[in-house]
Amino acid sequence: MPSRKSSGESKTRDRAHILWLRRDLRLSDHPALHAAAGTGYPGTGDGEPAHVLPVFVFDPVLWDRAGPARRAHLVGSLRALDADLRALGGGLVVRAGDPARELAALVRESGAAEVHVSADFGPYGRARDAAVEAAIEVPFRRTGAPYAVAPGRVHKADGEPYRVFTPYLRAWAEHGWRDPLPRPSGGDIEWVHAESVELPDAPTPEGARLPEVGERAALATWKRFRAGGGPGRYAELRDRADLAGTSRLSVHLKFGEIHPRTLLAGLTDDTFRAELAWREFYADVLWHRPETAREYLRAEFAGMEYDTGDEADDLFDAWRAGRTGFPFVDAGMRQLLAEGWMHNRVRMVVASFLVKDLHQEWTRGAAHFMRHLVDGDLASNSHGWQWAAGCGTDASPWFRIFNPVSQGKRFDPDGDYVRRYVPELRALAGAAVHEPWKVGVPDYPAPVVEHAEERLVALARYEAIRR
Ligand SMILES: Cc1cc2nc3c(=O)[nH]c(=O)nc-3n(C[C@H](O)[C@H](O)[C@H](O)COP(=O)(O)OP(=O)(O)OC[C@H]3O[C@@H](n4cnc5c(N)ncnc54)[C@H](O)[C@@H]3O)c2cc1C
Repeated sequence: MPSRKSSGESKTRDRAHILWLRRDLRLSDHPALHAAAGTGYPGTGDGEPAHVLPVFVFDPVLWDRAGPARRAHLVGSLRALDADLRALGGGLVVRAGDPARELAALVRESGAAEVHVSADFGPYGRARDAAVEAAIEVPFRRTGAPYAVAPGRVHKADGEPYRVFTPYLRAWAEHGWRDPLPRPSGGDIEWVHAESVELPDAPTPEGARLPEVGERAALATWKRFRAGGGPGRYAELRDRADLAGTSRLSVHLKFGEIHPRTLLAGLTDDTFRAELAWREFYADVLWHRPETAREYLRAEFAGMEYDTGDEADDLFDAWRAGRTGFPFVDAGMRQLLAEGWMHNRVRMVVASFLVKDLHQEWTRGAAHFMRHLVDGDLASNSHGWQWAAGCGTDASPWFRIFNPVSQGKRFDPDGDYVRRYVPELRALAGAAVHEPWKVGVPDYPAPVVEHAEERLVALARYEAIRR
């Protein structure tokens, strides 16, 4: 029997089930946990009570892709989950390495009879899970998903997947979802321990202010949002970059610290519900078209003329540092670096700016986002970018090109958002902050392009592929 890091007596059991945790770092509403313990829905697992061995495997492939903000959040979240498991008499087992090798070894060591997971629908996760399933000599059981309605579940009458959001939303709502499952309390589940490695060091990036971690933080965030009337005021406030009008739940959904069903249960606000459905829609699109994580959904856009070379690289550097001379864009890009998060309206504006004002491919911006976003999610990010770039779902019209100045004036009317993230402009009062060139501010760059001109260039390039 391997040595244990966790405290308490080692439990040897005839019948143990491994619960391999990935994007489901919580104990509430956890179908795979219930399936592993044999306390879930009828028909999940084999229904017989079993002892549960919860494990997280640090996969070098995913670890290398995650930027410092997501690494810090992940490690903090695992620490919080371990503490919650310990309070129930268990503890998290941590391994590091190729998941197929690690899981096969853990099955052998523990004598586990089954491996349970919440299904993963992303391109990498599907391939990885198939490799693990082939490597272990016991059943691999998928129960539940990070979504209320799993990707692939709803489709058009002719069996084809949806590519437009509104009909998807209708079908998604009609399909519905089960009520949340209860959180286990002490004594509900017997836990099994195994040898565990230390969690890696993942410090918060210097100067960054990241969200709180873990299931308790997720539930508290949701509670605060509801207590403040958030869902009811969402339609009115969600586009205002200067106000705290959105839930800030994306990071918790990303790591599965809260299940979307928990948010949907009893929710009456249609706008907030639809926003949760966007996340599910994009996961569905990616499930059907995994290559669109990095390739154009509308293939003709791959043939469009994009700028490359030294000058394009310099403009890209200005964009990512938040030094384009467009205050609303710069505030967003600096918020990303400072908090690992950016307001949705601003994500749309900075994405449009990179593609339609600087004429660069969406993939370049998406990669930068994925490196810095603490909520970085392949489906939402790639398809959020493709939507903003006009090459994605919903036939979002290419010719609707955001004006970065009027967007700022509209969604940050008093300039508070810009002043928060762009200290050079703090001396400018009110909406004047959106047009600093009118007064001239030392230390702040002049606009790197002329928006009206670049708009025409973008339209001409679009016409060329349309013809
Ligand atoms: C270019 C671009 C890139 C994006 N990248 C990501 C990403 O990597 N990860 C991510 O979670 N979201 C991404 N989004 C969507 C959206 O910006 C964030 O989900 C939202 O800003 C998170 O803040 P919140 O939790 O306060 O959202 P709220 O407004 O409170 O919405 C609640 C939840 O609904 C979901 N949601 C809301 N809007 C969208 C949307 N447009 N697309 C998909 N899901 C949505 C999120 O899970 C969010 O947490 C991106 C959007 C764009 C335009």
